[in-house]
Amino acid sequence: MTTRENNKNIAVDAQQIIDFIRQTFNEPSDFIGLHEPRFFGNEKEYLLECIDTTYVSSVGKFVNQAEAFVSELTGRLSIAVANGTVGLHIALHALGVKHGDLVITQPLSFAATSNAILHAGASPIFIDVDDQNFGLDPDKLRAFISEQCVIKGDHCFYKSTNQRISACMPAHLLGFSCRIDEIVEICNGAKIPVVEDAAESMGTSYKNQAVGTFGEYGVFSLNGNKIVTSGGGGFVVCRSEEDAKKIKHLTTVAKVPHAWKFFHDQVGYNYRMPNINAALALAQMENLERYIVAKKKLAKKYKLFFKDYNNVKFWSPSANCQSNYWMNTVEFRSKDERDNFLSISNGQKVMTRPLWELINTLPAFQHCKTISDEHARRLQECIVNIPSSVIDYE
Ligand SMILES: *Cc1c(COP(=O)(O)O)cnc(C)c1O
Repeated sequence: MTTRENNKNIAVDAQQIIDFIRQTFNEPSDFIGLHEPRFFGNEKEYLLECIDTTYVSSVGKFVNQAEAFVSELTGRLSIAVANGTVGLHIALHALGVKHGDLVITQPLSFAATSNAILHAGASPIFIDVDDQNFGLDPDKLRAFISEQCVIKGDHCFYKSTNQRISACMPAHLLGFSCRIDEIVEICNGAKIPVVEDAAESMGTSYKNQAVGTFGEYGVFSLNGNKIVTSGGGGFVVCRSEEDAKKIKHLTTVAKVPHAWKFFHDQVGYNYRMPNINAALALAQMENLERYIVAKKKLAKKYKLFFKDYNNVKFWSPSANCQSNYWMNTVEFRSKDERDNFLSISNGQKVMTRPLWELINTLPAFQHCKTISDEHARRLQECIVNIPSSVIDYE
């Protein structure tokens, strides 16, 4: 690896890393958060406009403008929703995922990825992540489908239980993209639609195409910890007018438009993004490109710092991935070294976090089938995220 060429075989210790973080954030003693929102733009102006016009709730111009912004950013149709989790749920629902089905996903992700599968009535079936990017491993996916599944008519079935596999939901984590083109190609061949969990990845591209736009549906989150935030919120993106209409209808209580009549043609969901959140979303997204520039700069500083050390690896995106640099990520050689760093840094008010506990080990998911998870297990033990808020904003 080129970053190891000048490696002097020296180890960095926890205190040196913490000192570097404090110096980089120009914060000698106070708390440093992992990822704090920044409001440099039109946030206050747009929010005041909501209040002045009384349009704070389920309709308003900012919902339309925020959707148009995401369409422009991704080249896809876009529907604003209340958060990323419900976006994932409604995408699965729209695909016809139902009770008794299986949905392929990865054990390493935020719990919401798999929660949405349970919300749709289906069960996740876990396939390992790629140890180069934290996303679903296409090679393991291919092997699973060819060895353990059968395609009958328009559907794919898991041979050992004869359950239908009605979707595949890979996640793009921390700003890294999974090999989504390969995943979509494999799934297309097996008649499995793909919903991309791009919750953390607004602004990330893979081979110069926005993530979230490779599968049938893609979902972004604008929760408070993401690269841009609407307080709470999300967007579902899709290709066809028909799919977009379906999502809009389902997320707006399935009310058939009429001047005064309340007629709902199916069980709908109140999954709308309120106008007041959309106002915040729009103002934040207007600065997305500038945030990415600032975050890329920070990642570069970290990369330089870690370059000479052999006991901590700083993760950089692959050449195919144009990252949004959401979360700076380092890897320790062992769980012990990782835990030592977590304890020292958090003890000194520098917020650092491990990856999520593997979803297939959580109580709600222990009954679900795991096909493979060895990379996920190793990464879960050795990875730490370090402070990543926007600094150097110009
Ligand atoms: C944040 C997140 C979600 C859920 O988004 P919310 O808006 O918080 O509901 C889903 N998946 C991943 C990977 C996330 O990071």
